Amino acid sequence: MERERYGVEEEREGITRRSFVRGASACAALTLAGFDPVSGTITGAFADVGYPEGGAASKWYMSVCPYCGVGCGVDVGVKNNRVVAVAGMKDHPVNEGRLCILGKNLVGMLHTDDRLVYPARREGDGFKRLDWDEAAAEVAERIKETVEKHGPDSFAMYVSASEYIEEYYIYNKFVKGCLGTNNLESSARLCWASGVVGLVKAFGADSPPCAYEDVELADLVVLSGYNPSSSKPIFFRRLVRAKKDSGARLIVIDPRRTDTARFADTFLQIRPGTDVLLHNAMAHVLIKEKLIDEAQARRLTDDYDAFSEHVKDFAPERVAAETGLSAGAIRDAARQIGRAERVVFMWGQGLNQSRIGTRKVTTLLNLCFITGNIGRPGAGPLAITGQTSAMGLREVGALPHLLPGFRLVTDGKAREEVARVWGVDPAGMSPNKGKPIPMILEGLESGRIKVLWIIHSNPAATFPDTEWARRALSKADFLIVQDCYHPTETSRYAHMLLPGAQWSEKGGTLTNSERGLNLIEKAVDPPGQARPDLLIVMDVARRMGFGDLFRYRSTEDIFEEYKLLTRGRPCDISGLTYARIAEEKGIQWPVPTAGHKGTRRRFLDRRFPKGKLRLNLHDHEEPAETPGEGYPLHLITGLVATQYHSRTRTGKIVKLDRTLPEPFVEIHPDDAGRYGVADGDLAVVSTRRGSVKARVVVTDGIRRGAIFVPYHFGYLAGRERAVNALTNRSFDEFAKQPEFKAAAARIEKA
Ligand code: SF4
Repeated sequence: MERERYGVEEEREGITRRSFVRGASACAALTLAGFDPVSGTITGAFADVGYPEGGAASKWYMSVCPYCGVGCGVDVGVKNNRVVAVAGMKDHPVNEGRLCILGKNLVGMLHTDDRLVYPARREGDGFKRLDWDEAAAEVAERIKETVEKHGPDSFAMYVSASEYIEEYYIYNKFVKGCLGTNNLESSARLCWASGVVGLVKAFGADSPPCAYEDVELADLVVLSGYNPSSSKPIFFRRLVRAKKDSGARLIVIDPRRTDTARFADTFLQIRPGTDVLLHNAMAHVLIKEKLIDEAQARRLTDDYDAFSEHVKDFAPERVAAETGLSAGAIRDAARQIGRAERVVFMWGQGLNQSRIGTRKVTTLLNLCFITGNIGRPGAGPLAITGQTSAMGLREVGALPHLLPGFRLVTDGKAREEVARVWGVDPAGMSPNKGKPIPMILEGLESGRIKVLWIIHSNPAATFPDTEWARRALSKADFLIVQDCYHPTETSRYAHMLLPGAQWSEKGGTLTNSERGLNLIEKAVDPPGQARPDLLIVMDVARRMGFGDLFRYRSTEDIFEEYKLLTRGRPCDISGLTYARIAEEKGIQWPVPTAGHKGTRRRFLDRRFPKGKLRLNLHDHEEPAETPGEGYPLHLITGLVATQYHSRTRTGKIVKLDRTLPEPFVEIHPDDAGRYGVADGDLAVVSTRRGSVKARVVVTDGIRRGAIFVPYHFGYLAGRERAVNALTNRSFDEFAKQPEFKAAAARIEKA
């Protein structure tokens, strides 16, 4: 498709491409001067850079940054129906007026020349413009026909984890209530599934107990496979404050000496993938050296005796070689945990994105529970998701096994409760779990899934082993891609393109990672014929004969209906209204009544969903691929601070794009010498699935035997840069989250 056909009409949008580039370039010089592409550090990342047209706003709207799960409050400045400025919301408790480099540059992602501004149908190698009537009618017809002929499970929907509560609610009602399949899946699977399943296995429910401020009340914060300096810069400020103002200590466990690791008091540079061994060895030390209150551990947890028996086999001396850590370092870290009064345990994709991600998370939680670091301020597990709505979509149940209010699709009573509010026949709702994204793609490949509707997500770039994922997508009978941009790696496979709305072009609510609700006001109209996404889905639903179920006058109506399904549930928000959320930004659920103040932290009474906390007994398992003949290195992928996911947004912002013009590969000096590459060389990194070119960065910040490549580049940046062509699609047995952090690789000079 030619770009011009889909580009925003510059005059109508009131911005010329020339003026945008000029303004952005001026800022780029400022950023580039202090940017370290290896660590992701930006000198002055919190300084007020401003936006060239920032002073021109005539009206301001309330919003939240659409990137990470921290959920920073943002004021959106508008002039002439165009967003011209953003500013950190000064009275927002999460960020107190600050934004990181991604948040500061939000304006740039709206006014790009690849905005998708009208529906289009694939015709031959190109796309033909349609009007909404034709497009929505065709989508409705294809779904109806397919479901009637092949059954409801021949349809699936895959949505991003950056949508709003009201949107997830509508998607859920349409897919599970109207179509009768539970094949509603989200991109959160790729980031946080193991973390959430780990929480459920340990707590008995998906109820994150802590508040962000707990790290500032802790004596010790343990960060396992987590680099908030790059991934959550505004939250990282709290860790800086905790250390500098309150004297908290930090233990960081990571194969890379990240900026977070450099800031730590204790850095355990672990051999990639061996976290279960380390966590179990720490538990061994805590128990053997009587650093825990055993009576309390027995009271709080189930089967403490079996657990203490299990970890007897994990003496530090036994796991030292495998973890690449000294027994002394493991003992020292365990003693710090045992001697601290209040410990917060944090983790990130380093644990989640693994074939044994759930085991890694639950064995970290074991440490939290046996030391009694739960149900007290300044203590407990705290996980901040990579995508802004990964908490909200779970509450609303926009996942294949859930219904609103964390109800399970397999629970008949739950289906009846939901059906009553939705106004549908419970007999028409499926009692079977739907399919996670690895199985959806397998379903496309085998032909069992015929129609896939993707909303604001880009699996052709973000799914591991992308060559395979692309082949699977190409087999869909009918692929609907609803996005703000075209082309993306995924939209190229679409049979139907539907123009959705971008952040600030639609309204709703979202929940951040500490259970805090926030209101997002619609600030401007979407460009061209683009529409708020839930209107698109409701339009299709109406055309399929479900119009009576979607008679809402506003997103607030939808919110009010959703609220009914939270009553008495862990995420009860019966006491909230839009007005109250706007007033009390970030108010944390449960808020069961209008007079309730919200719940800063959960389980202070130590009454847990299943009575006791579960200790999970696990052993280490190697990744699906380990370094060996022909592929001697362990490939880790991850993020940098100036980019987000597959760059569909951040790659368009000149200032951010220039900080990462091409992939780089970090390698230890000894390995660089061994494999004949030098700093600045262009190298070819290969795995059994493919090869990419990346610029060599020689650093002793990475372990010998491991290499690191950022995952942000997809095929649009060139076939030789599509980093997920290297990664492995084996996945966690419980969470079905793929293993992005372990592939056997080799490197050679290009
Ligand atoms: Fe946005 Fe996260 Fe940065 Fe806050 S820390 S501004 S939510 S990307």
